[in-house]
Amino acid sequence: MNIISVYKQFPTQSACIKHLEHVKWNDMPTCPYCKSTNQTPFLNRYHCNTCNTKYTVTVGTIFHKTKMDLQKWFLAIALTLNAKKGISARQLARDIEVTKDTAWRILMQIRKSFIDDSALLEGIVEIDETFVGGKNKNRHADKKVPHSQGGCSEDKTIVVGTLQRDGKVKAQKVKDRSAKSLHAVVKQNVAKGSQLMTDEWKSYNGLCVLYGHQVVNHAMKEYVNGACHTNTLEGFWSLLKRGVIGQYHYVSQRYLNNYINEFCYRYNNRKVDTNQVFTEVLQNGLKLDAVSHHIK
Ligand SMILES: [Zn+2]
Repeated sequence: MNIISVYKQFPTQSACIKHLEHVKWNDMPTCPYCKSTNQTPFLNRYHCNTCNTKYTVTVGTIFHKTKMDLQKWFLAIALTLNAKKGISARQLARDIEVTKDTAWRILMQIRKSFIDDSALLEGIVEIDETFVGGKNKNRHADKKVPHSQGGCSEDKTIVVGTLQRDGKVKAQKVKDRSAKSLHAVVKQNVAKGSQLMTDEWKSYNGLCVLYGHQVVNHAMKEYVNGACHTNTLEGFWSLLKRGVIGQYHYVSQRYLNNYINEFCYRYNNRKVDTNQVFTEVLQNGLKLDAVSHHIK
């Protein structure tokens, strides 16, 4: 799915609405307030004959009360999915002719619809942490300072990733590099009995109780030790960092997990048919009860 196919498949607002109705309701309009299917259509809306309210397919979704053409939303989703290093609000604003603030809000909504399955990683799983953001662009060489307390410079955030070889990646920010923090992330994301590949950072000690654990010693300039390396995850880090530095310039702590999630989702769907991913994003966006508090 690219911008040409969006234009071809969804040339008008009505075509977009029809498609959303198909994806959300399987063409059977259902009242979002009382779940009744007894309705009378009028224009692009429906009148619920059970609870007497009017509704559209976008109520309670990421498209709720949007004033922007749905075709622009569809274009924005396709552009975001296809941009390997992400797309900045500024760029999206130029591409679909909206203000930068609108583009920023749309991107935040689209990111909410990038939902990965929660299955645990298994088999060979690489684990590594990295620093994201701030001015000091490359801490890789010195990040594993011996005897360091696991802190980092104030303008940087620590991100920890778990990546199944030939599978999915999961990543999130953590408050420090302590054993407690890192072990919690590993247990949350990786199935017991998996084979972990890490560097020599001391906080990884002790995971061998639940997992196989092989270590590659980066401090000794060792980067590959047989099958033991974290190079796949390093590749993902460089993608994430180029995105954050190149596209987003500055990512606030508050939204960092949203950006990381976006990069994980794209990476995890890199081999999936793009039409299928596009539809999944629409499904997730329509399922979201983003404005549930507005609904009676
Ligand atoms: Zn109703």
